[in-house]
Amino acid sequence: MGVIDEVKQKIDIVEVVSGYVPLTKAGRTFKALCPFHSEKHPSFFVYPEQQNWHCFGACNTGGDIFSFVMKKEGIDFGEALGLLAQKAGVTIKSRFEPEAEGKEKERLYQANQAAAKYFHNLLLNSPAGEKVQSYLTGRGFSLKTTTSFQLGFSLNEWEALKKYLLDKGYTEGELLAAGLVIETEAGEAHDRFRNRLMFPILDGRGRTIGFGARVLDDSLPKYLNSPQTPIFDKSGSLYGINVARAAIRQQDMVVIVEGYMDVLQAHQNGFNNVIASMGTSVTEKQVTRLKRLTKNVALALDADAAGEEAMLRCVGYENTLNAEIKVIVLPEGKDPDDIIKKDAQAWQHLVEGALPVVDYTFNVVTAKLDLTTAKDKSSAVDKLLPIIAEMKDTVRQAHYLQALARLVEISQRDLEAALGRIKASRGRRRLKEPKPETVGKTVRPLFSRPVEEDCLALLLQHPELKSRSKGLAPEYFENSENREIFIACQQADDLSLLKERLDPTLHEYFDTLVAKSIPATTGWEEILNDYIHRLQKEFLQSLATKRAQALSLVTESDSSDSELAKLQEPAKEISTQLKEVFTQKSKRR
Ligand SMILES: [Zn+2]
Repeated sequence: MGVIDEVKQKIDIVEVVSGYVPLTKAGRTFKALCPFHSEKHPSFFVYPEQQNWHCFGACNTGGDIFSFVMKKEGIDFGEALGLLAQKAGVTIKSRFEPEAEGKEKERLYQANQAAAKYFHNLLLNSPAGEKVQSYLTGRGFSLKTTTSFQLGFSLNEWEALKKYLLDKGYTEGELLAAGLVIETEAGEAHDRFRNRLMFPILDGRGRTIGFGARVLDDSLPKYLNSPQTPIFDKSGSLYGINVARAAIRQQDMVVIVEGYMDVLQAHQNGFNNVIASMGTSVTEKQVTRLKRLTKNVALALDADAAGEEAMLRCVGYENTLNAEIKVIVLPEGKDPDDIIKKDAQAWQHLVEGALPVVDYTFNVVTAKLDLTTAKDKSSAVDKLLPIIAEMKDTVRQAHYLQALARLVEISQRDLEAALGRIKASRGRRRLKEPKPETVGKTVRPLFSRPVEEDCLALLLQHPELKSRSKGLAPEYFENSENREIFIACQQADDLSLLKERLDPTLHEYFDTLVAKSIPATTGWEEILNDYIHRLQKEFLQSLATKRAQALSLVTESDSSDSELAKLQEPAKEISTQLKEVFTQKSKRR
């Protein structure tokens, strides 16, 4: 049995939801004031028999236990699974991670956490830590910032941390694996971080995954990070996410800066939605992690980092997020730390003035060109058209194509033709898909609905049908794992890319779907239509049942201004939709 099923089996949705919002028993269901929108009379219901929930009020949506926790905590599927697994006492292990390895990782988290505590204590309470404290004060950081980010200090010694952790019962092998010590050619291990200001890096679940470390003088390298370890992948981690999460969700916006100090200074000044990519340019993995929290991303870039190639990557991220990325252009030679420290208002203005990445690129490219000359016109098209070609949103694409046509005074039709050629050559590149691995064992969700699985399997195996799947909505998939895969499927064309975007706990199930054989009685398109039809019908029927159940519970005490009472009016809607589904079907047959 997979870990997802185990969690579903061990955890009751009523228990979990009631941890967030008080539930009242109402017939065979439980009702509550919706935890996702504000209301005076309950229109939020939990169905213990089906182990799912629905809000009939402003949200008008529902799902299973995973989607509830994801929405409530603003986290992704993997994180929700982690949280619920912990509650259920289930250890998460994927196919690539046998139980022993899961335990090993747990030890690495613990070792890092113990190290963070050790460094923090040295900073606050040792004579050597005093110089670091005054360094921080000198840079304008308060004690509150120091403690809330658990900043630390590593002694100028070779074996201080190593000895401390060995005493605590960790083995040298574990310290090596955690990246805390480093092995010399002679085979001896010593501390990796010495005489540095330490920044513990925590993941979204609050586990210490690694460290950033800064020198206090002019020696080099200025910054040192934990190496890649089983629990630390720098390209997928975001510094400050553990403290910024709530603010990001609340403000529905995230600002990504480069450095640790930038994050510290921002938070100290109340800009709590700021996190750092830790010195590298933002990666797709990082952006994907933010997807559940917000779709509004602003990148603080210094002018020379914002080249055309970087912009092209940003448009790729926009497709991933299905949103617009903005660019905050920093004054030359200044980083957010400097700006905020000097004048918080100035930073606020920079954030407010952030430009959509494509507008920004248009400005940068054309600023260097003389658009009255043929040569520069062609150069503008060469640089901007590939960026426009990358957009998946057709409305935005048309908008920028028009803008470019106006700019270079070339007919839009000519540009469209050129755009078509770019897309065609990219399409050819994407055809080379890797063959899916075959998997013998079947892994499928416990509360499985074969029609959900078949429909997904078909879409994964026949990407050419994607354009025919417009009638499908994520909500037709009751199981969060299927919903996750469907959403990823809508966003990525390439199978390997798609898998990459999924949480690793879903990989095994994903492989099963890709290898699943679908009985072909008629053409694929017809089979897909049939699946869509069934999913739609079952969704509407279940909604109608739930709604009737909910309506039967409208009592005198629920005054007429309750959102639930209003359900009585459009109650026709679902039955009309259902009727339409049935008539469509009989027409086709
Ligand atoms: Zn609601």
